[in-house]
Amino acid sequence: MPYYIGDVIKDEQKLIVRTPEEFRKSGIDVMLRTGVDGVDPAKGTVSLSTGQALPYDVLVIATGAETVWPGIPGQDLEGVFPLKNLTDGLRLKSFLETARCKKAVIIGGGFIAMEMSEAFRSRGMDVKVMDILPAPAARWGGELGLFILEELRNNSVEFLPETRPLSIEAGSQCRLRVKTSKGDLDADVVLVAIGVRGKVGLAESIGVKKGETGAVQVNFSQKTSHDNIYAVGECCEVFNRVSRRWIYAPLGDVANKQGRIAGQNIGGTPGVFPGVVGSQSFKLFGLEVATTGLTEAEAIKSGFAPVSEFIWGLPMARQLSRGEKLGLKMTADRSTGRLLGAQCVADEGAVKRIDTLAVALWNEMVIQEVGYLDLAYSPFYGGAWDPIHIAAQNIARKL
Ligand SMILES: Cc1cc2nc3c(=O)[nH]c(=O)nc-3n(C[C@H](O)[C@H](O)[C@H](O)COP(=O)(O)OP(=O)(O)OC[C@H]3O[C@@H](n4cnc5c(N)ncnc54)[C@H](O)[C@@H]3O)c2cc1C
Repeated sequence: MPYYIGDVIKDEQKLIVRTPEEFRKSGIDVMLRTGVDGVDPAKGTVSLSTGQALPYDVLVIATGAETVWPGIPGQDLEGVFPLKNLTDGLRLKSFLETARCKKAVIIGGGFIAMEMSEAFRSRGMDVKVMDILPAPAARWGGELGLFILEELRNNSVEFLPETRPLSIEAGSQCRLRVKTSKGDLDADVVLVAIGVRGKVGLAESIGVKKGETGAVQVNFSQKTSHDNIYAVGECCEVFNRVSRRWIYAPLGDVANKQGRIAGQNIGGTPGVFPGVVGSQSFKLFGLEVATTGLTEAEAIKSGFAPVSEFIWGLPMARQLSRGEKLGLKMTADRSTGRLLGAQCVADEGAVKRIDTLAVALWNEMVIQEVGYLDLAYSPFYGGAWDPIHIAAQNIARKL
């Protein structure tokens, strides 16, 4: 959606992965604009907003997530938008065009805020991003956070650290005025991007158990606490293979895999969803930003004794470099040497490094093995000693 709003994707039809007609051709009936208002597990029926009741043998709850609102006066004013689904995206883009918006304020500084700051800038808008934390994209802290800040600054996005929104009012210079803990901001449009939480109301109403994160608890088959009820996607938890804990990770690739596993189990070809290692990436103007596994802080919370290394490296051999940068932070467990996670920000090549390390994490490799991984060396894509080798070997020396 950010790329549709930023006009990189111009045709909204391209955002639809599969149309209702395509579903129907494969024998799947799609009922649009039809909500499920209630479930009766004893009768095995769901009641629809149309008044109908549908029988089921097996139920899959895939209700997704809902936007977290800041809970401030004026958050319901015209011009204040969430960005959670296609309808939000279409409404926001149409508003930007019809209201000829020039100034955007984004509340929240996570990955959606980062992608949207680029989308608004590519429309020539003035963009301010605020967050209660000291830096945007908090999982990439320290030097990597500064690298992200520098990219925002170089692209004329103003980041307001440790800033809390207090209220939104009708403005005089612009449509809206956002009152914050650090002063007032004029805006034609305000985007709320402080996160999502699992939409669990329906599951809760029938006593399906929730996990510690507040999302629906599932097992490795995607089954909930009710025998014939499954849950998939952003409404449920997922197992983190590194921390060995059930976490909340609202991401599209995870939702897709969980959906397939639930479908397989229901269809009689048993399968398990083995969990995630916690990989994620996004693009910010000219930067690739990626992470896998645990950050150092998350490793401590999960009971590890982490040892970390941060290095600046190059995405290619030194002789071919034109000043590109690659920052890599890697973390391992001091007592076992096991790789725990990594974050990378680079002009290019960050996702390649993180994807490589995601496979290493999946296979529970120790840092000494990572330090000698057989990576595909060619001067355009790295040095004979890749930043991955260098960071891992530096950690190995500290153990
Ligand atoms: C701007 C943006 C960018 C993103 N970028 C990435 C990315 O780069 N990588 C990534 O991995 N993920 C990304 N995500 C997250 C990803 O889109 C979601 O994790 C994924 O779509 C979740 O799928 P889902 O099926 O669980 O939920 P959804 O796609 O939200 O589907 C849930 C559906 O259930 C319907 N529903 C809810 N309650 C009821 C009810 N009672 N009755 C009937 N229907 C109901 C909803 O209307 C909705 O259509 C992004 C999300 C956003 C908003």
